Amino acid sequence: MSAMGDILIKDGFIATMDRDRTVYKSGDMYIDDGKIVSIGKDVEAPRSPEYTMDARNKVVIPGFVNVHTHLQQYFRGVYELIGDFYKVNLPLEGYRRPEDMEWLGLASCAEFIHGGSTTAMLIYTYPDGFAKAVEEAGNRMIIGADIEEVDLNRLKEGVYEYLPEKGEAAYKRAVDLHRNWHGKGLITTIMAPKAADLAVTETYLRCKEYAEEHGLNVTTHLSQSWREVQQVERLYGKTPPQH
Ligand SMILES: [Zn+2]
Repeated sequence: MSAMGDILIKDGFIATMDRDRTVYKSGDMYIDDGKIVSIGKDVEAPRSPEYTMDARNKVVIPGFVNVHTHLQQYFRGVYELIGDFYKVNLPLEGYRRPEDMEWLGLASCAEFIHGGSTTAMLIYTYPDGFAKAVEEAGNRMIIGADIEEVDLNRLKEGVYEYLPEKGEAAYKRAVDLHRNWHGKGLITTIMAPKAADLAVTETYLRCKEYAEEHGLNVTTHLSQSWREVQQVERLYGKTPPQH
């Protein structure tokens, strides 16, 4: 038996999503060591796999891919009820501590698996603890350390004060994330300047350069609020996409 154990899924409605879009109305799937070995109408499997799942009346499909997430369990209910991004959400982010990230990450990974997402791109300020959690949980993740360099408390009042030392620390976290975690298990990394009103142009260019040098992608938030549009227009005389 393999280290990860083997699994036989029996009698499920299997949508394979293969090239021919093969569907088995009642099929089996045998997985060994994390890989699908066989799939079809009665598949060959050892007499007693470590796990056997009865999938009758269930759909078996490839995992969902969540292309943008932040895994912020501790904001649950807040975003939905008093979700003013600049007044409530961003300042709240200032309360989280790096040491909280691992258990938040584990809770998030469990929720992902429960919801059927096996792959996600997630962006967070203190990604190291998340990466540890992801490695433990086994999700496939593209992780970005977001680079945001404004004073969040002043921003609450509508004032943009850019703090180069904050940006520098965030950039260093992004580089450390890449160095320490890229390619480990199912983890890869991405550069993530947060938004055109929250990170300055030099930071975007720095991220682009680093990404090109190391073969990474870059992600960012774009036009996520009216306030961002106004600030970018004020700074650069353009809309965020034009900028
Ligand atoms: Zn986002």
